[in-house]
Amino acid sequence: MNGAELAAALRPELEPRRQAMIDVLGQLVSIESPSDDLPSLERCASTLETLFRPFGSIERIAPEGGQGPHLRLTVDARNGHQERAVALCHYDTVWSLGTLQRIPFAVDAEGVARGPGCFDMKGGITVLYFALGALRERGLAPARQLQVLFTSDEEIGSPTSRAVIEETSRGAAVAYVLESPLPGGTLKTARKGTGDYLVRITGRAAHAGVEPQKGISATEELARQTLALHALNDYAVGTTVNVGVVHGGSRPNVVAAEAEAHVDVRVETLAEAERIDRAIRGLQAQLPGAQLAIDGGLNRPPMERSAAMAALFERARAIAAAMGVELHEGSTGGGSDGNFTAAIGVPTLDGLGAEGEGAHAAHEHVLTDRLPRRAALMAGLLVDDF
Ligand SMILES: [Zn+2]
Repeated sequence: MNGAELAAALRPELEPRRQAMIDVLGQLVSIESPSDDLPSLERCASTLETLFRPFGSIERIAPEGGQGPHLRLTVDARNGHQERAVALCHYDTVWSLGTLQRIPFAVDAEGVARGPGCFDMKGGITVLYFALGALRERGLAPARQLQVLFTSDEEIGSPTSRAVIEETSRGAAVAYVLESPLPGGTLKTARKGTGDYLVRITGRAAHAGVEPQKGISATEELARQTLALHALNDYAVGTTVNVGVVHGGSRPNVVAAEAEAHVDVRVETLAEAERIDRAIRGLQAQLPGAQLAIDGGLNRPPMERSAAMAALFERARAIAAAMGVELHEGSTGGGSDGNFTAAIGVPTLDGLGAEGEGAHAAHEHVLTDRLPRRAALMAGLLVDDF
């Protein structure tokens, strides 16, 4: 059975099981897991181990520095296929501990589920769980050996999981990312690369009324550098540079000795990333005597839509079409761990998670009536031997 046939057969089987899917989503959302809370992450990881152990072997990868564990599940392929596939999930959320009291997990009369992290991305984990479950119930295995990563630090830039993601994905035929889709369930075949920079300026303090000419104003220098940084914006090629946070000075009557700017950079191509990086590192102080120190750099390389990725999306579109669902592709300025897999040359399909809206926002929600079709799509992709 190919992926399209399987999805078409599965969707009507999964539709009546929506409540079971809501229950698993509720179970995961009800274990809060902010990226910075080790005991919470441990609890969530244990639950994931219990849920996913029936599908294969799970190893725990304990990063240093108090970060929660990453989990790697290996699911055997049918007939010892030589290629491998990976699926990426993160189980941390942006929501701090206690959010659940304010926004408890709940599903309203229209089937809209709410709760911290439901859309980003515990809904995606739920989708994968039911996709694997559907295969098992039918005695099917993925076409390729599947390695699923559940990581604990995506929302803070994947500092400890990046190496694990790259090591696991290198040489894989495909990477599936269970992140939230664009509205309407649209998959993501391109993501901007993201960078963070910190520009620190040192001037010289002086009395603002008595002898300001002896000072070097770090805040004036900061203003000039802000203009220089914003001049790097080039919307036509998708490059954005935003001085989002500034600090500086001590008192109104003191010429500011110090100031700093936190800069967010987004680019569509590696070439642009290099151009912007060169420009930022090459910034020169404009006031005589002022000093600049620049830290940071590109955090996630851009996920560029390759021919292989376009072909991969086409497989997904055909599988969805076989079950009567119209699937689209799109791009986003937000980064994910799919940026890492795409950058090492693994065709990556992102946004395969639950449909909904409002990642990182108070109106975060999942449309539970779409869960069955998303699980059927994922199951179809896993068995498809393209
Ligand atoms: Zn996410």
